[in-house]
Amino acid sequence: MSPRSAPVVLKFGGASLADPRRVAAEIRAAGRHGTPVVAVASAREGVTDLLADAVAHPRAVTAHRRVLPHLRDLHPRLPPAGQRHLTRVGSLLASIERDGAADPALRDQVLSQGERIAVHWLSARLHEAGVAATPVEADRLGLVTDNAYGASCILFDRSRTAVRRGLHRLLDRGEVPVVTGYFGRSLEGRVATLGRGGSDYAASGLGALLGADRVELVKRHVAVLSADPREVPAARPIPELSYEEAEELAQFGARVLHPLTIEPARAHGITLRVRSLEDPRVVTTIAPARPGRRNRALTVLRPLRLLRLRVPGGRQRPGIVAEVSQRLASAGVNVVQLYTSSALLCLVLEPPAVLPALRALAPVTQEAAAMVDGPYRVALVTAIGDGILDDLDRLPRAAVDGAEGFSATPRALSVAVPEGRAVAVVRALHRSLVEGRRP
Ligand code: ASP
Ligand code: MG
Repeated sequence: MSPRSAPVVLKFGGASLADPRRVAAEIRAAGRHGTPVVAVASAREGVTDLLADAVAHPRAVTAHRRVLPHLRDLHPRLPPAGQRHLTRVGSLLASIERDGAADPALRDQVLSQGERIAVHWLSARLHEAGVAATPVEADRLGLVTDNAYGASCILFDRSRTAVRRGLHRLLDRGEVPVVTGYFGRSLEGRVATLGRGGSDYAASGLGALLGADRVELVKRHVAVLSADPREVPAARPIPELSYEEAEELAQFGARVLHPLTIEPARAHGITLRVRSLEDPRVVTTIAPARPGRRNRALTVLRPLRLLRLRVPGGRQRPGIVAEVSQRLASAGVNVVQLYTSSALLCLVLEPPAVLPALRALAPVTQEAAAMVDGPYRVALVTAIGDGILDDLDRLPRAAVDGAEGFSATPRALSVAVPEGRAVAVVRALHRSLVEGRRP
């Protein structure tokens, strides 16, 4: 097979880097029949948290006392290019310590160092294991993002030419590029991270840019389960999800996937596989929907707050929903969920949004003589799966008892319940929708 056959992208999560020989074996296995392999790596486990903490408390965490020794321990025998990034962490933190704070782009620059150090370190270890690995830093490669530091999006049209040229140059020489996950270069030319957990998104984005055959997200122990096993002990791995189901799952708070990971794969028809390094039987394949498949998963989003807005005359007042939305949008308030009936408008918000929302709604309460009550502490329990509305008759009593709101599309059915009941509700839904026991 020519090296121009469609590549495979293997993304290794931070915890899986603890065993570079396993990583080398995975890369060799994927490239066995001449398939070109691109590896994407996260920072080693805990590193991004450590860097974020150092940026947030610049005076409390003196770089040279805590951060650098820890990074050195985690990356023994770091080659010189990696050493330079380590030194850079020291000087960036020292300057933030002097100034007392960092702007979002400077913060992203510090956070990106975890992945940079990781790819230099990992490439050296892969070389020792006989893999011709070459470290690649995504911003230098030409992965372009928007300027939304801390939560940026990949700009595909602006990235395509440089990314393809840079990676194919290495692949054509039989090398394995080991690319940093998590960040790219913004339109302004600064480092921009894709949000926490963003290496998954970087991997599917690179896969889309390269026209990859498949993208595999290799995690050490984590797998995509039917629910969070800490809340639902009976949770089980899900073998298959459609792109749309996986997208809902990520958006509704399943922490295992970064919410933007699915779209680039869906748009290019790339198969995504999420798998566990510890247990090869645990694999979730994310691909186009297949008729006749019934996949069900549950998520819980919390803590959340619910505000009830009672508008006299309700929906008879033209434009009331638009007015509320506009006021909230201009106050920068993101509405997680909205329920309406004729006189009630219920807003589900993240806790920090409650005060700005109440302030933004004050004119409405005056002009329209509306009343607000709340905030109430709620959780959003969501059942996801193509054709979920067919399951309405299986909904257990517990899911509706005391519910504050309910919303449904053919793929996601979600119910706002008092926070204290979230675990009981998700377990009851799991028993009936996943385990197939009669409610
Ligand atoms: N290292 C980054 C984080 O911990 C990105 C990632 O792991 O995907 O959020
Ligand atoms: Mg990480």
